Amino acid sequence: MPTWSHSRISTYENCPLKFYYTYVEKPDVEEVLGDNIALVLGKSCHEALEWLYKELSFGREPSLDDAIDYYTQSWGKMWTPDVIIPRFDEKTWKKLGIRYLGDFYNRHSPFIEDRTVALERMVRLKIGKYSLIGYIDRVAEASPGHYKIIDYKTTKRLQGQDWFDSDRQLALYEIGLRQMFRDVEEVDLVWHMLHFNKEIVSRRTPGQLEQLKSDTIELISTIEAAEEYPAKVCGLCPWCSFQEICPKKKHERATTRMTVREFRRDEGVRVANKFVQTKLKLDEWGIKNADARKDVLAYSKQHDTSKVIGSKAAVAVSTMKRVSFDPKVEKLLKKEGLWEKYSKLDSAALVRELEGLDPKIRGKLVKLEETKESKAVRVVKK
Ligand code: SF4
Repeated sequence: MPTWSHSRISTYENCPLKFYYTYVEKPDVEEVLGDNIALVLGKSCHEALEWLYKELSFGREPSLDDAIDYYTQSWGKMWTPDVIIPRFDEKTWKKLGIRYLGDFYNRHSPFIEDRTVALERMVRLKIGKYSLIGYIDRVAEASPGHYKIIDYKTTKRLQGQDWFDSDRQLALYEIGLRQMFRDVEEVDLVWHMLHFNKEIVSRRTPGQLEQLKSDTIELISTIEAAEEYPAKVCGLCPWCSFQEICPKKKHERATTRMTVREFRRDEGVRVANKFVQTKLKLDEWGIKNADARKDVLAYSKQHDTSKVIGSKAAVAVSTMKRVSFDPKVEKLLKKEGLWEKYSKLDSAALVRELEGLDPKIRGKLVKLEETKESKAVRVVKK
């Protein structure tokens, strides 16, 4: 049984396909993209702050310049030419980290508000039959029994207090901390939002922690039972290392690296353009775009891609599934005393409620189930 973590769970929530590529079957691809620059920024800031608090715990008090120097060295070691920079340039991103450190240092110097108990502390926790693991950036004690679980975030988006009050990551760490230390009475969950020079604090009640345990068990069982891992386009796509092979992103990714000549000659671009151009005209006359549609579907199938980029727009191909039942189901439902309820054989209702039926009946119904797939081809924004 694998060891779970907050990031493993949230990868699935954000995009099941990325979860599949990361944890189930690591794809054998020629080019998996390098780290993204946000990761380099985050790691360099984390390393500099870890170093700062390590020095402080030995009674030394490094200056801000020392901390920035450490940050710059970390950055240099982490930097490789294949780092993905979706916007701006390396210099701009690196300067951001220097600002974060300056703000943090000036806000907390002389660093006497609490006592550091651990840095980059690994927590293991047991929830039901599952083991989880996580790393806390800094554990501090404000007074005996009053702990702080501290996380540094370099994200450029500041969520509202509700988001922090329902965050799973630090609350899971609290469960781990309470399992690890006997003297824990109060716990503050603290986020240093470095981009905003803000400190956000949240607390959990024992009831909330119990609820989190059962929600987490349910979520992990759902992930374990998953048989399909659909791609889910989300805000994290530009940073995803699997764009090269993802059906929703691979053509887009390939076209960004083409020369104008290559782009014009690309088969995908050609079929997408044909579809977009003929669709506009044929729509006016109410005629289906059958020929261009066939080309797009063939290209999508051959290249395992669901978004084909054209010059002015893209074409998205999606698969729709419709489940229906064989007429024999009527006899079965009558025998099981369910005919009254479904006498009009509302397949959609039966599919919806299938999970809640007696497993024996469900098993028989499933054998009569038929899934029909149809393809939808739409013009979408690039
Ligand atoms: S590019 Fe986006 S949709 Fe594709 S696997 Fe990555 S996160 Fe998922």
